[in-house]
Amino acid sequence: MSKIVIMGGAIIGQLTALLLAEDGHEVTVLERDPAKPPADVEDAWNSWERTGVRQFRIGHWFHAGFKRVLDGELPQVVEALDEAGALRVNFLEGIPEEMIGGRQDGDEVYSTITGRRPVVEAVVARVAAAHPGIEVLRGQAVTSVNLEDRDGVPHLAALVTESGQEFSGDLIVDAAGRNSPTPRLLAEAGGRSPDEELEDSGFIYYGRSFKSADGSLPAVLGGLNQNYDSISILTLPADNGTWFVGIVAAGSDAEMRKVMNEETWTRVISSYPLVSHWLDGEPTSEVKAMGKIEDRIRRCVVDGQPVVTGYAAVGDAWACTNPSLGRGATIGLYHALALRDQMRADPAAQTAEWARSWSRRTEDDVEPWYSDGLGPDRLRLGEIEAQIVGARFEPDDELYEFMRRIGSRGMEHPRLLRALLDSALMIRKWSELLEDEELVEMAMAEPAASAEGVGLDRSQLLEILNA
Ligand SMILES: Cc1cc2nc3c(=O)[nH]c(=O)nc-3n(C[C@H](O)[C@H](O)[C@H](O)COP(=O)(O)OP(=O)(O)OC[C@H]3O[C@@H](n4cnc5c(N)ncnc54)[C@H](O)[C@@H]3O)c2cc1C
Repeated sequence: MSKIVIMGGAIIGQLTALLLAEDGHEVTVLERDPAKPPADVEDAWNSWERTGVRQFRIGHWFHAGFKRVLDGELPQVVEALDEAGALRVNFLEGIPEEMIGGRQDGDEVYSTITGRRPVVEAVVARVAAAHPGIEVLRGQAVTSVNLEDRDGVPHLAALVTESGQEFSGDLIVDAAGRNSPTPRLLAEAGGRSPDEELEDSGFIYYGRSFKSADGSLPAVLGGLNQNYDSISILTLPADNGTWFVGIVAAGSDAEMRKVMNEETWTRVISSYPLVSHWLDGEPTSEVKAMGKIEDRIRRCVVDGQPVVTGYAAVGDAWACTNPSLGRGATIGLYHALALRDQMRADPAAQTAEWARSWSRRTEDDVEPWYSDGLGPDRLRLGEIEAQIVGARFEPDDELYEFMRRIGSRGMEHPRLLRALLDSALMIRKWSELLEDEELVEMAMAEPAASAEGVGLDRSQLLEILNA
Protein backbone atom coordinates (compact mmCIF):
# COMPACT_ATOMS: atom_id res chain seq x y z
CA MET A 1 0.00 0.00 0.00
CA SER A 2 1.15 3.54 -0.67
CA LYS A 3 2.17 6.46 1.49
CA ILE A 4 0.10 9.46 0.41
CA VAL A 5 0.38 13.10 1.46
CA ILE A 6 -2.59 15.41 0.95
CA MET A 7 -2.19 19.18 0.95
CA GLY A 8 -5.45 20.78 2.16
CA GLY A 9 -7.73 19.32 4.80
CA ALA A 10 -11.11 20.78 3.91
CA ILE A 11 -14.07 18.81 2.69
CA ILE A 12 -12.45 17.16 -0.34
CA GLY A 13 -9.02 16.64 1.25
CA GLN A 14 -10.62 14.78 4.16
CA LEU A 15 -12.97 12.72 1.95
CA THR A 16 -10.07 11.80 -0.32
CA ALA A 17 -8.08 10.76 2.75
CA LEU A 18 -10.96 8.56 3.93
CA LEU A 19 -11.45 6.85 0.56
CA LEU A 20 -7.72 6.12 0.25
CA ALA A 21 -7.27 5.04 3.87
CA GLU A 22 -10.22 2.65 3.55
CA ASP A 23 -8.15 0.89 0.85
CA GLY A 24 -5.24 0.55 3.24
CA HIS A 25 -3.10 3.50 2.13
CA GLU A 26 -1.24 5.43 4.79
CA VAL A 27 -2.41 9.04 4.52
CA THR A 28 -1.07 12.29 5.98
CA VAL A 29 -3.19 15.44 5.60
CA LEU A 30 -1.51 18.85 5.88
CA GLU A 31 -3.96 21.66 6.63
CA ARG A 32 -2.93 25.28 6.87
CA ASP A 33 -5.62 26.40 9.34
CA PRO A 34 -4.72 25.34 12.89
CA ALA A 35 -8.20 25.02 14.46
CA LYS A 36 -9.59 21.52 15.01
CA PRO A 37 -13.21 20.74 14.09
CA PRO A 38 -15.45 21.52 17.08
CA ALA A 39 -17.63 18.68 18.38
CA ASP A 40 -20.67 20.90 18.78
CA VAL A 41 -22.55 21.84 15.58
CA GLU A 42 -23.30 25.38 16.69
CA ASP A 43 -19.62 25.93 17.58
CA ALA A 44 -18.72 24.66 14.10
CA TRP A 45 -21.04 27.26 12.58
CA ASN A 46 -20.27 30.16 14.95
CA SER A 47 -16.64 29.92 15.85
CA TRP A 48 -14.58 27.42 13.83
CA GLU A 49 -11.74 29.54 12.42
CA ARG A 50 -11.36 28.51 8.77
CA THR A 51 -9.83 31.44 6.94
CA GLY A 52 -8.46 28.97 4.36
CA VAL A 53 -11.92 28.62 2.78
CA ARG A 54 -13.41 31.95 1.70
CA GLN A 55 -16.92 30.49 1.21
CA PHE A 56 -16.87 28.59 4.50
CA ARG A 57 -19.87 30.28 6.15
CA ILE A 58 -21.87 30.76 2.96
CA GLY A 59 -24.85 28.54 2.12
CA HIS A 60 -23.97 25.15 0.72
CA TRP A 61 -26.12 22.38 -0.61
CA PHE A 62 -24.97 18.76 -0.91
CA HIS A 63 -26.53 16.92 -3.81
CA ALA A 64 -28.05 13.45 -4.05
CA GLY A 65 -24.95 12.39 -6.01
CA PHE A 66 -22.85 13.27 -2.94
CA LYS A 67 -25.02 11.09 -0.71
CA ARG A 68 -25.02 8.24 -3.21
CA VAL A 69 -21.20 8.03 -3.06
CA LEU A 70 -21.16 8.33 0.73
CA ASP A 71 -23.82 5.61 1.09
CA GLY A 72 -21.81 3.23 -1.06
CA GLU A 73 -18.28 4.03 0.07
CA LEU A 74 -18.27 5.86 3.40
CA PRO A 75 -21.46 4.96 5.29
CA GLN A 76 -19.76 5.97 8.56
CA VAL A 77 -19.85 9.59 7.33
CA VAL A 78 -23.60 9.35 6.65
CA GLU A 79 -24.12 7.92 10.14
CA ALA A 80 -22.10 10.75 11.71
CA LEU A 81 -24.00 13.34 9.64
CA ASP A 82 -27.28 11.91 10.93
CA GLU A 83 -26.00 12.14 14.49
CA ALA A 84 -25.08 15.79 13.91
CA GLY A 85 -28.65 16.58 12.81
CA ALA A 86 -28.01 16.77 9.06
CA LEU A 87 -31.11 17.18 6.94
CA ARG A 88 -32.39 14.30 4.85
CA VAL A 89 -34.61 15.29 1.93
CA ASN A 90 -36.21 13.32 -0.87
CA PHE A 91 -37.71 15.76 -3.34
CA LEU A 92 -40.34 13.34 -4.56
CA GLU A 93 -41.79 12.97 -1.09
CA GLY A 94 -44.44 15.55 -0.48
CA ILE A 95 -45.38 15.73 -4.18
CA PRO A 96 -48.80 14.14 -4.80
CA GLU A 97 -48.62 10.58 -6.21
CA GLU A 98 -50.48 11.51 -9.40
CA MET A 99 -47.91 14.20 -10.25
CA ILE A 100 -44.98 11.81 -9.95
CA GLY A 101 -46.78 8.90 -11.63
CA GLY A 102 -46.73 6.88 -8.40
CA ARG A 103 -43.64 5.79 -6.47
CA GLN A 104 -41.09 4.00 -8.66
CA ASP A 105 -38.17 1.67 -8.03
CA GLY A 106 -35.02 3.72 -7.87
CA ASP A 107 -36.70 6.89 -6.54
CA GLU A 108 -34.38 6.69 -3.54
CA VAL A 109 -31.65 8.24 -5.74
CA TYR A 110 -33.40 11.58 -5.20
CA SER A 111 -32.49 11.48 -1.48
CA THR A 112 -30.04 14.06 -0.26
CA ILE A 113 -28.28 14.56 3.03
CA THR A 114 -27.21 18.14 3.58
CA GLY A 115 -26.25 20.72 6.18
CA ARG A 116 -24.38 23.94 6.77
CA ARG A 117 -20.89 23.72 5.26
CA PRO A 118 -19.02 24.06 8.61
CA VAL A 119 -21.24 21.38 10.14
CA VAL A 120 -20.78 18.89 7.29
CA GLU A 121 -17.05 19.60 7.12
CA ALA A 122 -16.61 19.22 10.90
CA VAL A 123 -18.34 15.83 10.74
CA VAL A 124 -16.18 14.62 7.83
CA ALA A 125 -13.03 15.92 9.54
CA ARG A 126 -13.87 14.15 12.80
CA VAL A 127 -14.51 10.84 11.02
CA ALA A 128 -11.20 11.22 9.14
CA ALA A 129 -9.25 12.11 12.29
CA ALA A 130 -10.54 8.94 13.98
CA HIS A 131 -9.41 6.68 11.10
CA PRO A 132 -6.30 4.67 12.03
CA GLY A 133 -4.85 5.12 8.53
CA ILE A 134 -5.04 8.94 8.56
CA GLU A 135 -2.89 11.50 10.32
CA VAL A 136 -4.18 15.07 10.13
CA LEU A 137 -1.64 17.80 10.87
CA ARG A 138 -3.24 21.21 11.30
CA GLY A 139 -1.40 24.54 11.25
CA GLN A 140 0.88 23.17 8.51
CA ALA A 141 0.94 25.53 5.53
CA VAL A 142 2.82 24.22 2.52
CA THR A 143 5.07 27.03 1.31
CA SER A 144 7.39 25.33 -1.17
CA VAL A 145 8.00 22.10 -3.03
CA ASN A 146 11.06 20.00 -3.85
CA LEU A 147 11.34 18.81 -7.44
CA GLU A 148 13.60 16.09 -8.81
CA ASP A 149 14.43 15.47 -12.42
CA ARG A 150 13.20 12.04 -13.61
CA ASP A 151 14.08 11.41 -17.26
CA GLY A 152 13.54 15.06 -18.08
CA VAL A 153 10.19 15.31 -16.26
CA PRO A 154 9.99 17.19 -12.94
CA HIS A 155 8.92 14.85 -10.14
CA LEU A 156 7.24 16.20 -7.01
CA ALA A 157 9.52 14.76 -4.34
CA ALA A 158 8.26 16.62 -1.26
CA LEU A 159 6.04 19.34 0.13
CA VAL A 160 7.78 21.76 2.49
CA THR A 161 5.83 23.56 5.21
CA GLU A 162 6.36 26.98 6.75
CA SER A 163 8.31 25.41 9.62
CA GLY A 164 10.70 23.80 7.12
CA GLN A 165 9.41 20.26 7.60
CA GLU A 166 9.44 18.08 4.47
CA PHE A 167 6.70 15.59 3.63
CA SER A 168 7.21 13.02 0.90
CA GLY A 169 5.17 10.07 -0.28
CA ASP A 170 4.44 7.76 -3.19
CA LEU A 171 1.80 10.29 -4.23
CA ILE A 172 1.18 13.91 -3.32
CA VAL A 173 -2.43 15.03 -3.62
CA ASP A 174 -3.37 18.66 -4.00
CA ALA A 175 -6.69 19.41 -2.28
CA ALA A 176 -5.81 23.02 -1.49
CA GLY A 177 -8.89 24.47 -3.15
CA ARG A 178 -9.56 27.32 -5.57
CA ASN A 179 -6.45 29.19 -4.55
CA SER A 180 -4.14 26.21 -4.41
CA PRO A 181 -0.56 27.52 -4.45
CA THR A 182 0.77 24.50 -6.34
CA PRO A 183 1.05 26.10 -9.80
CA ARG A 184 3.09 28.94 -8.28
CA LEU A 185 5.17 26.60 -6.10
CA LEU A 186 6.01 24.37 -9.08
CA ALA A 187 7.16 27.40 -11.07
CA GLU A 188 9.19 28.77 -8.12
CA ALA A 189 10.95 25.40 -7.83
CA GLY A 190 11.99 25.59 -11.49
CA GLY A 191 9.18 23.41 -12.86
CA ARG A 192 6.24 24.17 -15.06
CA SER A 193 2.72 25.12 -13.94
CA PRO A 194 -0.25 23.13 -15.24
CA ASP A 195 -2.13 24.60 -18.19
CA GLU A 196 -5.09 26.61 -17.07
CA GLU A 197 -8.37 27.79 -18.58
CA LEU A 198 -9.81 30.59 -16.50
CA GLU A 199 -12.74 32.94 -16.78
CA ASP A 200 -14.71 35.07 -14.31
CA SER A 201 -18.08 33.28 -13.98
CA GLY A 202 -19.74 36.70 -13.91
CA PHE A 203 -21.97 36.02 -10.90
CA ILE A 204 -22.14 37.50 -7.42
CA TYR A 205 -23.96 36.16 -4.34
CA TYR A 206 -25.66 38.19 -1.62
CA GLY A 207 -26.78 35.79 1.09
CA ARG A 208 -27.86 35.49 4.68
CA SER A 209 -28.34 32.54 7.04
CA PHE A 210 -31.31 31.87 9.31
CA LYS A 211 -32.45 29.55 12.08
CA SER A 212 -35.93 28.70 13.30
CA ALA A 213 -36.84 28.71 16.99
CA ASP A 214 -38.37 25.22 16.89
CA GLY A 215 -36.14 23.36 14.42
CA SER A 216 -38.70 23.55 11.60
CA LEU A 217 -37.91 24.58 8.03
CA PRO A 218 -39.80 26.80 5.57
CA ALA A 219 -41.77 25.00 2.86
CA VAL A 220 -40.04 24.65 -0.51
CA LEU A 221 -42.35 26.33 -3.03
CA GLY A 222 -41.09 26.25 -6.59
CA GLY A 223 -37.57 24.85 -6.22
CA LEU A 224 -34.39 25.71 -4.37
CA ASN A 225 -32.98 27.83 -7.20
CA GLN A 226 -35.57 30.12 -8.74
CA ASN A 227 -34.73 32.22 -11.77
CA TYR A 228 -36.46 35.59 -11.99
CA ASP A 229 -35.84 38.26 -14.55
CA SER A 230 -32.37 39.67 -13.71
CA ILE A 231 -31.75 37.76 -10.47
CA SER A 232 -32.06 34.22 -9.13
CA ILE A 233 -32.95 33.38 -5.56
CA LEU A 234 -31.49 30.40 -3.72
CA THR A 235 -33.18 28.90 -0.67
CA LEU A 236 -31.08 26.15 0.86
CA PRO A 237 -32.45 24.17 3.81
CA ALA A 238 -29.76 22.72 6.10
CA ASP A 239 -29.23 20.91 9.40
CA ASN A 240 -30.97 21.52 12.73
CA GLY A 241 -33.62 23.97 11.50
CA THR A 242 -31.21 26.28 9.68
CA TRP A 243 -31.19 27.60 6.13
CA PHE A 244 -29.62 30.09 3.75
CA VAL A 245 -31.25 32.58 1.41
CA GLY A 246 -29.16 34.03 -1.39
CA ILE A 247 -29.65 36.45 -4.25
CA VAL A 248 -27.59 35.54 -7.31
CA ALA A 249 -26.95 38.50 -9.61
CA ALA A 250 -24.60 39.48 -12.39
CA GLY A 251 -21.34 40.86 -11.02
CA SER A 252 -21.73 43.72 -13.49
CA ASP A 253 -25.12 44.74 -12.04
CA ALA A 254 -24.20 47.87 -10.05
CA GLU A 255 -27.81 48.45 -8.92
CA MET A 256 -27.87 45.10 -7.15
CA ARG A 257 -24.98 46.11 -4.89
CA LYS A 258 -27.58 48.04 -2.90
CA VAL A 259 -28.72 44.76 -1.34
CA MET A 260 -25.61 44.87 0.84
CA ASN A 261 -27.87 47.04 2.97
CA GLU A 262 -29.78 44.55 5.12
CA GLU A 263 -33.09 46.39 4.88
CA THR A 264 -32.87 46.52 1.09
CA TRP A 265 -31.91 42.84 0.91
CA THR A 266 -34.90 41.95 3.09
CA ARG A 267 -37.23 44.15 1.01
CA VAL A 268 -36.15 42.38 -2.15
CA ILE A 269 -36.63 38.86 -0.77
CA SER A 270 -39.98 39.74 0.79
CA SER A 271 -41.22 40.90 -2.64
CA TYR A 272 -41.03 37.41 -4.12
CA PRO A 273 -44.06 35.41 -2.90
CA LEU A 274 -42.52 31.96 -3.40
CA VAL A 275 -39.54 32.74 -1.16
CA SER A 276 -40.64 35.54 1.22
CA HIS A 277 -41.55 33.04 3.97
CA TRP A 278 -37.85 32.01 4.12
CA LEU A 279 -37.34 35.28 6.05
CA ASP A 280 -39.40 33.89 8.95
CA GLY A 281 -36.50 32.94 11.19
CA GLU A 282 -33.74 34.44 13.26
CA PRO A 283 -30.85 35.70 11.09
CA THR A 284 -27.59 34.02 12.10
CA SER A 285 -25.34 36.08 9.84
CA GLU A 286 -25.24 39.48 8.25
CA VAL A 287 -25.76 39.80 4.48
CA LYS A 288 -22.53 38.56 2.92
CA ALA A 289 -21.43 39.15 -0.64
CA MET A 290 -19.19 36.88 -2.63
CA GLY A 291 -18.16 37.74 -6.16
CA LYS A 292 -15.21 37.39 -8.54
CA ILE A 293 -15.84 33.66 -8.64
CA GLU A 294 -13.86 31.99 -11.38
CA ASP A 295 -14.58 29.03 -13.59
CA ARG A 296 -11.17 27.44 -13.82
CA ILE A 297 -9.74 24.09 -14.88
CA ARG A 298 -6.12 22.93 -14.75
CA ARG A 299 -4.50 20.29 -16.93
CA CYS A 300 -1.35 18.53 -15.80
CA VAL A 301 -0.65 16.68 -19.03
CA VAL A 302 0.17 18.97 -21.93
CA ASP A 303 0.77 17.58 -25.43
CA GLY A 304 0.96 14.10 -23.92
CA GLN A 305 3.68 15.08 -21.42
CA PRO A 306 3.04 15.40 -17.67
CA VAL A 307 4.13 18.79 -16.29
CA VAL A 308 4.95 16.95 -13.08
CA THR A 309 4.82 13.35 -11.81
CA GLY A 310 3.91 11.99 -8.38
CA TYR A 311 1.12 14.55 -8.18
CA ALA A 312 -2.69 14.56 -8.46
CA ALA A 313 -4.98 17.56 -7.97
CA VAL A 314 -8.55 16.89 -6.78
CA GLY A 315 -11.63 19.02 -6.14
CA ASP A 316 -11.35 22.78 -6.54
CA ALA A 317 -7.57 22.58 -6.84
CA TRP A 318 -8.25 20.87 -10.20
CA ALA A 319 -11.42 22.66 -11.35
CA CYS A 320 -13.94 25.03 -9.83
CA THR A 321 -17.05 26.72 -11.15
CA ASN A 322 -19.69 29.26 -10.35
CA PRO A 323 -21.50 27.63 -7.44
CA SER A 324 -25.14 28.56 -8.14
CA LEU A 325 -25.78 24.94 -9.11
CA GLY A 326 -24.16 23.78 -5.84
CA ARG A 327 -22.00 21.19 -7.58
CA GLY A 328 -18.48 21.77 -6.21
CA ALA A 329 -18.46 19.30 -3.33
CA THR A 330 -20.15 16.57 -5.35
CA ILE A 331 -17.75 16.99 -8.28
CA GLY A 332 -14.89 16.93 -5.76
CA LEU A 333 -16.18 13.71 -4.24
CA TYR A 334 -16.60 12.09 -7.68
CA HIS A 335 -13.01 13.13 -8.34
CA ALA A 336 -11.78 11.68 -5.04
CA LEU A 337 -13.49 8.41 -5.91
CA ALA A 338 -11.82 8.43 -9.32
CA LEU A 339 -8.45 8.83 -7.57
CA ARG A 340 -9.20 5.90 -5.27
CA ASP A 341 -10.03 3.81 -8.38
CA GLN A 342 -6.91 5.02 -10.17
CA MET A 343 -4.78 3.82 -7.24
CA ARG A 344 -6.58 0.47 -7.37
CA ALA A 345 -5.91 0.16 -11.10
CA ASP A 346 -2.29 1.30 -10.92
CA PRO A 347 -0.56 1.94 -7.60
CA ALA A 348 2.73 3.01 -9.28
CA ALA A 349 1.83 6.68 -8.89
CA GLN A 350 5.32 8.01 -9.48
CA THR A 351 5.51 7.28 -13.19
CA ALA A 352 4.77 9.43 -16.23
CA GLU A 353 2.37 6.74 -17.44
CA TRP A 354 0.40 7.02 -14.20
CA ALA A 355 0.17 10.81 -14.64
CA ARG A 356 -1.18 10.30 -18.17
CA SER A 357 -3.73 7.70 -17.18
CA TRP A 358 -4.87 9.83 -14.19
CA SER A 359 -5.33 12.75 -16.55
CA ARG A 360 -7.40 10.56 -18.92
CA ARG A 361 -9.53 9.24 -16.05
CA THR A 362 -10.19 12.79 -14.86
CA GLU A 363 -11.11 13.88 -18.40
CA ASP A 364 -13.40 10.90 -18.97
CA ASP A 365 -15.11 10.53 -15.60
CA VAL A 366 -15.11 13.93 -13.92
CA GLU A 367 -14.56 16.73 -16.43
CA PRO A 368 -17.95 16.06 -18.11
CA TRP A 369 -19.58 17.13 -14.82
CA TYR A 370 -17.56 20.35 -14.82
CA SER A 371 -18.48 21.09 -18.45
CA ASP A 372 -22.12 20.21 -17.78
CA GLY A 373 -22.47 23.19 -15.45
CA LEU A 374 -20.76 25.71 -17.69
CA GLY A 375 -23.36 25.73 -20.49
CA PRO A 376 -26.37 26.45 -18.24
CA ASP A 377 -24.34 29.10 -16.38
CA ARG A 378 -23.34 30.98 -19.51
CA LEU A 379 -26.93 30.88 -20.76
CA ARG A 380 -28.31 32.14 -17.46
CA LEU A 381 -25.78 34.97 -17.36
CA GLY A 382 -26.75 35.91 -20.91
CA GLU A 383 -30.40 35.93 -19.88
CA ILE A 384 -29.69 38.14 -16.83
CA GLU A 385 -27.54 40.58 -18.77
CA ALA A 386 -30.23 40.90 -21.44
CA GLN A 387 -32.88 41.61 -18.79
CA ILE A 388 -30.73 44.35 -17.25
CA VAL A 389 -30.65 46.29 -20.52
CA GLY A 390 -34.21 45.37 -21.50
CA ALA A 391 -33.16 43.22 -24.46
CA ARG A 392 -34.59 39.87 -25.51
CA PHE A 393 -32.41 36.84 -25.01
CA GLU A 394 -33.03 34.41 -27.83
CA PRO A 395 -30.01 32.20 -28.35
CA ASP A 396 -30.36 29.56 -31.00
CA ASP A 397 -29.44 26.86 -28.52
CA GLU A 398 -30.96 23.41 -28.06
CA LEU A 399 -29.86 23.14 -24.43
CA TYR A 400 -31.46 26.50 -23.60
CA GLU A 401 -34.82 25.53 -25.10
CA PHE A 402 -34.73 22.11 -23.47
CA MET A 403 -33.87 23.56 -20.05
CA ARG A 404 -36.61 26.18 -20.29
CA ARG A 405 -39.22 23.64 -21.22
CA ILE A 406 -38.24 21.05 -18.69
CA GLY A 407 -37.84 23.74 -16.01
CA SER A 408 -41.24 25.27 -16.52
CA ARG A 409 -43.21 22.10 -17.32
CA GLY A 410 -41.45 19.60 -15.07
CA MET A 411 -44.33 19.40 -12.63
CA GLU A 412 -46.75 18.50 -15.42
CA HIS A 413 -45.14 15.19 -16.48
CA PRO A 414 -43.64 12.62 -14.09
CA ARG A 415 -40.93 11.79 -16.61
CA LEU A 416 -39.94 15.43 -17.11
CA LEU A 417 -39.96 15.95 -13.35
CA ARG A 418 -37.56 13.04 -12.78
CA ALA A 419 -35.31 14.29 -15.60
CA LEU A 420 -35.25 17.75 -14.02
CA LEU A 421 -34.29 16.22 -10.68
CA ASP A 422 -31.70 14.00 -12.37
CA SER A 423 -29.90 17.08 -13.59
CA ALA A 424 -30.52 19.30 -10.56
CA LEU A 425 -29.28 16.65 -8.11
CA MET A 426 -26.34 15.45 -10.22
CA ILE A 427 -27.70 12.01 -11.10
CA ARG A 428 -27.52 12.57 -14.89
CA LYS A 429 -25.87 15.30 -16.91
CA TRP A 430 -27.71 17.64 -19.29
CA SER A 431 -25.73 16.07 -22.11
CA GLU A 432 -27.11 12.63 -21.15
CA LEU A 433 -30.67 13.95 -21.00
CA LEU A 434 -30.29 15.50 -24.43
CA GLU A 435 -29.31 12.11 -25.82
CA ASP A 436 -32.66 10.66 -24.69
CA GLU A 437 -34.70 11.31 -27.85
CA GLU A 438 -38.05 10.36 -26.37
CA LEU A 439 -37.51 12.69 -23.43
CA VAL A 440 -36.43 15.58 -25.66
CA GLU A 441 -39.46 15.06 -27.89
CA MET A 442 -41.74 15.08 -24.87
CA ALA A 443 -40.14 18.23 -23.43
CA MET A 444 -40.22 20.11 -26.73
CA ALA A 445 -43.82 19.16 -27.56
CA GLU A 446 -45.21 22.21 -25.78
CA PRO A 447 -43.84 25.73 -25.37
CA ALA A 448 -42.24 26.74 -22.06
CA ALA A 449 -44.79 27.97 -19.55
CA SER A 450 -44.66 31.71 -18.92
CA ALA A 451 -43.33 32.73 -15.52
CA GLU A 452 -44.82 36.21 -15.88
CA GLY A 453 -46.41 37.66 -12.79
CA VAL A 454 -44.66 35.31 -10.35
CA GLY A 455 -41.82 37.67 -9.41
CA LEU A 456 -40.78 41.26 -10.04
CA ASP A 457 -39.80 42.59 -13.43
CA ARG A 458 -36.66 44.70 -13.71
CA SER A 459 -38.40 48.04 -13.22
CA GLN A 460 -40.22 46.79 -10.11
CA LEU A 461 -36.94 45.41 -8.76
CA LEU A 462 -35.23 48.77 -9.33
CA GLU A 463 -38.06 50.55 -7.50
CA ILE A 464 -37.53 48.31 -4.49
CA LEU A 465 -33.77 48.77 -4.61
CA ASN A 466 -34.14 52.53 -4.69
CA ALA A 467 -37.07 52.94 -2.26
C1 LIG B 1 -20.09 31.21 -2.77
C2 LIG B 1 -19.88 29.72 -2.94
C3 LIG B 1 -20.95 28.85 -2.67
C4 LIG B 1 -20.79 27.48 -2.86
N1 LIG B 1 -21.86 26.65 -2.67
C5 LIG B 1 -21.73 25.33 -2.89
C6 LIG B 1 -22.82 24.44 -2.67
O1 LIG B 1 -23.92 24.84 -2.34
N2 LIG B 1 -22.61 23.11 -2.88
C7 LIG B 1 -21.38 22.62 -3.28
O2 LIG B 1 -21.24 21.42 -3.46
N3 LIG B 1 -20.34 23.45 -3.51
C8 LIG B 1 -20.48 24.77 -3.31
N4 LIG B 1 -19.42 25.59 -3.51
C9 LIG B 1 -18.14 25.00 -3.95
C10 LIG B 1 -17.44 24.36 -2.76
O3 LIG B 1 -17.29 25.31 -1.74
C11 LIG B 1 -16.09 23.84 -3.21
O4 LIG B 1 -16.27 23.02 -4.33
C12 LIG B 1 -15.40 23.08 -2.10
O5 LIG B 1 -15.08 23.95 -1.04
C13 LIG B 1 -14.12 22.44 -2.61
O6 LIG B 1 -13.50 21.80 -1.54
P1 LIG B 1 -11.93 21.57 -1.51
O7 LIG B 1 -11.68 20.76 -0.30
O8 LIG B 1 -11.49 21.10 -2.84
O9 LIG B 1 -11.30 23.03 -1.35
P2 LIG B 1 -11.50 24.11 -0.22
O10 LIG B 1 -12.77 23.96 0.46
O11 LIG B 1 -11.20 25.44 -0.84
O12 LIG B 1 -10.36 23.79 0.83
C14 LIG B 1 -9.00 23.95 0.56
C15 LIG B 1 -8.24 23.67 1.85
O13 LIG B 1 -6.84 23.72 1.59
C16 LIG B 1 -6.20 24.45 2.61
N5 LIG B 1 -4.97 25.01 2.06
C17 LIG B 1 -4.87 25.97 1.10
N6 LIG B 1 -3.57 26.24 0.86
C18 LIG B 1 -2.85 25.42 1.65
C19 LIG B 1 -1.46 25.24 1.86
N7 LIG B 1 -0.56 25.99 1.21
N8 LIG B 1 -1.05 24.32 2.76
C20 LIG B 1 -1.97 23.56 3.45
N9 LIG B 1 -3.29 23.71 3.30
C21 LIG B 1 -3.72 24.63 2.41
C22 LIG B 1 -7.22 25.50 3.01
O14 LIG B 1 -6.96 26.03 4.30
C23 LIG B 1 -8.51 24.70 2.93
O15 LIG B 1 -8.78 24.06 4.15
C24 LIG B 1 -19.54 26.96 -3.31
C25 LIG B 1 -18.49 27.83 -3.57
C26 LIG B 1 -18.66 29.20 -3.41
C27 LIG B 1 -17.52 30.10 -3.76
